[in-house]
Amino acid sequence: MRKIALHWQIIIGMVAGLLIGALFLLFPWGKDFVVDWIKPFGTIFINSLKLIAIPLIIASLVKGVSDLNDIRQLSKMGSRTIGMYIVTTIIAISLGLLLVNVVKPGRFIEENTRLEMMESFAGEADSRIASANETKERGPLDALVDIIPDNIVAAASSNGNMLQIIFFVVFFGIGIILIEPSKSKPVKDFFDGLNEVILKMIDIIMLFAPFGVFALLATLMVEAPSSDVFIALGAYALTVVVGLAFLLFAFYPTVVKIFTGLSYKTFLDGIAPAQLLAFSTSSSAATLPVTMERVEEHLGVEKDVVAFVCPVGATINMDGTSLYQGIAAVFIAQVFGNDLTLSDQLVIVLTATLASIGTAAVPGAGILMLVIVLESVGVNPAGIALIFAVDRPLDMIRTAVNVTSDATVALLVGKSLGKIKDPNVKNWDDHYKPQD
Ligand code: ASP
Repeated sequence: MRKIALHWQIIIGMVAGLLIGALFLLFPWGKDFVVDWIKPFGTIFINSLKLIAIPLIIASLVKGVSDLNDIRQLSKMGSRTIGMYIVTTIIAISLGLLLVNVVKPGRFIEENTRLEMMESFAGEADSRIASANETKERGPLDALVDIIPDNIVAAASSNGNMLQIIFFVVFFGIGIILIEPSKSKPVKDFFDGLNEVILKMIDIIMLFAPFGVFALLATLMVEAPSSDVFIALGAYALTVVVGLAFLLFAFYPTVVKIFTGLSYKTFLDGIAPAQLLAFSTSSSAATLPVTMERVEEHLGVEKDVVAFVCPVGATINMDGTSLYQGIAAVFIAQVFGNDLTLSDQLVIVLTATLASIGTAAVPGAGILMLVIVLESVGVNPAGIALIFAVDRPLDMIRTAVNVTSDATVALLVGKSLGKIKDPNVKNWDDHYKPQD
């Protein structure tokens, strides 16, 4: 019997999770059962992915940077990566703004629906606004200061400090480049071996992926807020989904095809398990080990590029989030009867780019940073209460977009540096796409 491809196994797990979740909702004890007996497996799965992320970044990035042999190559890769991330983010927000101005989903919300929604999610909105304000009240150079850790162990142990680790590891790699080859060789060999071990550990974790996503989606199903505001928010949610779907299925594969020659199918098949995992976990950080493994082993980008571009992307590149922030900001303004001018919308492009860079790669981070985008154009940030009810499913899709865009940029940077395997070689697919 032919082995079922990993992405199909994950899809089966997801569908089964949704069905079982729906089934258990029929019983009065069903929700508690799922929370007590199924949810922990989802948590174990996410924890094991997060567990592997930091050692993976360290091992592969040390190896990647130290293989570059010269610092100029590193700065070339760094500047191209950041440049491409910014360009894709701006394209994503502009698409979002275009869609929301054409569809105008805000016109479907009536006054009393608005008041009802604001009331039911007021508490949650307040707490998000408070945390967003904490983020905002900082000096202009604080973001830079944050990148340099004063203690590497503390940086590696606190969540969300990926940039600090990247900083340390790149620095360490530069040290390796600059010392005697006879001294650097054992260090490089060690990290090379470590990297192999970690990739193997990811393979083992991924054997559990179908069950992990099953548990995650069954839990989501029983914990989802049931509310009729879904219908009122349909036009808004649909606008976001159309934009995200366009990026996922048209924009990225086309860009990849044009610049690297990789076929639509090879690209999507290669990245699908990471997309599905991003969808199930709503966290690009948790998905990172799988994104890296897929881009390297199934899309043919060389390790040094993957090791740098993907972790940086998981931290600062969030096209899905920025598209969503653009649409959500204008939608909320529309509901409040506040017509945003063209210059307001340009401010949104700027703040949503910055906000998406600052958004943590964890569930629900995007809606928090939306507060800052709203404030920048003078829209009441309490408006986020309007969109809470549908945020989780949109978070799932935008996270899938976020990781796809990281993979796309990894391919583009790889191509521009000649560090990608040639898709025209014979049997390319057999060679790079096989052992799921
Ligand atoms: N959940 C998203 C991510 O991890 C961030 C967001 O909330 O938009 O990429």
